Parts: sequence; structure tokens; C-alpha cells
Amino acid sequence: MNNCAIVGINWGDEGKGRMVDLLTEHFDVVVRYQGGGNAGHTVVNEKGRFALHLLPSGIFRDGVVNILGNGVALDPENLLGEIKAVMSQGVGISPDNLKISERASLLFPWHRDLDELEEKRLKDKKYGSTKQGIAPFYSDKYQKKTILAGELFFPDELKAHLADLLEWKNLILTNVYGARPYTIESLNDWIRDYCEPLRPFICDTGAFLKQAKTQGKKILFEAQLGALRDLDYGIYPYTTSSNTLAAFAPVGAGLPSLRLDEVIGVVKAYSTCVGEGPFVCEMFGDEAVKLREAGREYGAKTGRPRRVGPIDLVATRYGIEIQAATQIALTKLDVLSYMSEIPVCTAYTVNGAKTERFPFPMELNGAEPVIEYCPGWESDISGIREWSALPQAARDYVRMIERAINCPITYVSVGPERDSIIARKAWS
Ligand code: GDP
Repeated sequence: MNNCAIVGINWGDEGKGRMVDLLTEHFDVVVRYQGGGNAGHTVVNEKGRFALHLLPSGIFRDGVVNILGNGVALDPENLLGEIKAVMSQGVGISPDNLKISERASLLFPWHRDLDELEEKRLKDKKYGSTKQGIAPFYSDKYQKKTILAGELFFPDELKAHLADLLEWKNLILTNVYGARPYTIESLNDWIRDYCEPLRPFICDTGAFLKQAKTQGKKILFEAQLGALRDLDYGIYPYTTSSNTLAAFAPVGAGLPSLRLDEVIGVVKAYSTCVGEGPFVCEMFGDEAVKLREAGREYGAKTGRPRRVGPIDLVATRYGIEIQAATQIALTKLDVLSYMSEIPVCTAYTVNGAKTERFPFPMELNGAEPVIEYCPGWESDISGIREWSALPQAARDYVRMIERAINCPITYVSVGPERDSIIARKAWS
């Protein structure tokens, strides 16, 4: 294959980062195409343990060029902080291995303020935002009221554009929320401190990708969050504010003419969900605490405990369909090793009727999970690297999922480290 997207099939946190980190050895370029610093990929490799928020997970591989595409919410403060943190752990980052699209829009400090102010206003109806400014950012982008990274190279035009935006944004901050206004001096300082240092990385990444494709270079597209958080197809309004689907990858990356060869969907061996919104298969009480602890299910960005549940075959089938996944990586199978029997959500009951169809978002609130059980294996599988060496019950569990989702499971991961992986077919 020449290009491939690695995407989340569920609510995010499926372990996409570890799969990108593993598979980058087969690629020349890794591109992030949507989202911002609001979620995190955790990557553990020979260089250490890293929580990435904006940097593509290919940053650890020598020779791989990493790109932040036009679809990304480019948060200069977060990005600079992340670059410094990752470099301090011995990873080299320069304009040779990190390129930022000149068409990426800048996430301003007021986006974070507005996120916080709106969640406060909503009180108990809040969305559970990570308050990184993502929703206000994308709203502004669609209103055509953001600044493109490439504008940093046009200081006079930038000055006028900033003044216009400032006037408009202060009206909203002060009149709608009663918050303090920004001054042009504070904005200029922000540009100097956080945007100017990024200038060397900003370029026409579309042209770079086009050339890479022409030269037969292999390109990997890395998604943030999962299918159920997609703005158009997810559990709206408890979605993110961008498109997390593979279909958006060529557009958000900067190569709209590209057709994807493969889509690797990442599915966790059980379910987790951060923040508010319907989560039909949710477990509660001791059962939930045990699973959360076994999987260390706390948000990479916020440290919030993740809601947990059994694998949800209804949601997973839907996720695979809308991602058009051609193969699946099933992660964190080792986490289930303590269970004597493993719960599986095989269907929902909606208005008294059993269904295997993923319902319209409003119907999810009244949906109940139908739970069935598979035998557990109750032994440590974290050291296993061969499919045939897995206990029979573990293989049966994977095969049961494979049949239910009708998509080949080509990878099974059994630990967070790069090599804690069972590949069921050779890479091609
Ligand atoms: P992402 O955003 O989809 O990359 O997922 P996160 O990084 O938020 O969450 C995945 C978490 O699970 C990280 O802490 C990983 O180190 C960890 N992880 C990934 N694969 C495995 C696995 O197979 N077993 C275990 N125990 N942990 C894993």
C-alpha cells in the first residue's frame, strides 16, 4: 500500500497513537488532518513515554516527515510547549521533520476563554469540553474569522486582519459573556511569543505532499478521537467540532485528490468514553472501577477518569462502516485478562425493541445494552507475540468480534510498548 489512514472506531482513546508509532516504520510522511490539542495520544517507545496532543506520532522515527495539515486547530501555545517537552526527552524536532500547513488556522487565547465561559454558562447542561478552545475555534473558522498560519509572513495585512478580529471578538466577550476584552498590545505580544517561533515550520505542505505522492513516498494519515465523535456522523452534540472520519483525511491533510488505499480502524477490546453524552454500554460500581484501574483509563490531556464498559458491537459496527475501515487493530486485550467471563454488548433495546442498528443520537438516551458473556482466559498474555500462543479463550474472543464486525482484525495489542503486538498478517 502507498497510503493509509489510522482512525478511531469508537469514542477516541482506542490506542491510535501506539499503532501510528508502530507502523511509521513503513511510511515516509505522517499527517495529522483534524482536531487540536484537546485529546492525547500516548506513545511508549525506546525513547520514553510521551503524551502527544498536536504533534503527529511519526515524530519519533528518524527520516519521517510529520505534517500538521490545514484541517488542524493549530494551537501555538500548546504546540510550542509540546515541542519543547518532547525535545527535552531527546527527540529531535526541526523544520526537516515537522511542517505546518500555511493554511492551518491559528487557535487564539480567546477560543480557550470562550470554551470556558460557555461551559460555565451551561452549568449542568455542559458538553464536558476539555476547554482547549476547539469548538469556538472551528465555529470561527466556518465564520471565516480566523488567521491562517501563512499570514505570519504578511505583517501589514496581518496587523489589519488582527485589528478587525479583535473588534469583533471583544464585542462577544464583553456583551455576551461580560468578560474582559483583549487589547491589540496583548495580541501582538502573543503573536511574538507563540507564533513567531513557529514560522520556520510553516510552509506549503500541500505542495510538499503532492510532490511526495508523485515520488511514490508512503503517506500515513493520523486521526484524533473516534468515529462516534465525528461532527456529522457521531453522537451530536457530544461530538468534537471536526470530522474524525478517514474520508476527511485527504481534505484536512492538504491532498484532496488522494484516494486512500487502506483504512486501519483502531478498536479497544472494551469501551471507554470521556466526558458527557450517551454511553449505552456503560458499567458502574465495582465492575467499572476494576476495569478502569486495569486499563489505566484516565484522560491523557485532563487526567479525568474515563467512563468504561464492555466492547459495544453495535457502536463498533457503525464506526467501522462510517470509517470505511478495511482492517482492524484490536488494542488492550491484555487488560481483560483478570476477568473470568467477559461481558459483550451485542445489541441495544430501544423503545422495547431489540436492535443491532446504531440509533439516531436522541434515541441513544433511552437505549439499553443487551449483554452476553464470553469465557475469560485469566492468565497474563502481555508477553505473547504470536497469535497461536494466545490462550484459546482469547483467540475465541477476538474471532467472535471479527465475525460480529465483519472486518479482519490484523493486529492485536497486549501491552502499551511498541513491540507488545501480535500481527496476524505480514505488512504489505
Ligand atoms: P489514542 O488517543 O487513540 O492514541 O489513545 P490514548 O493514548 O488516549 O489511550 C491509549 C492508552 O492505552 C495509552 O495509555 C497507551 O499507552 C495504552 N495502550 C495502548 N495499547 C495498549 C495495550 O495493548 N495494552 C495496554 N495495557 N495499554 C495499551
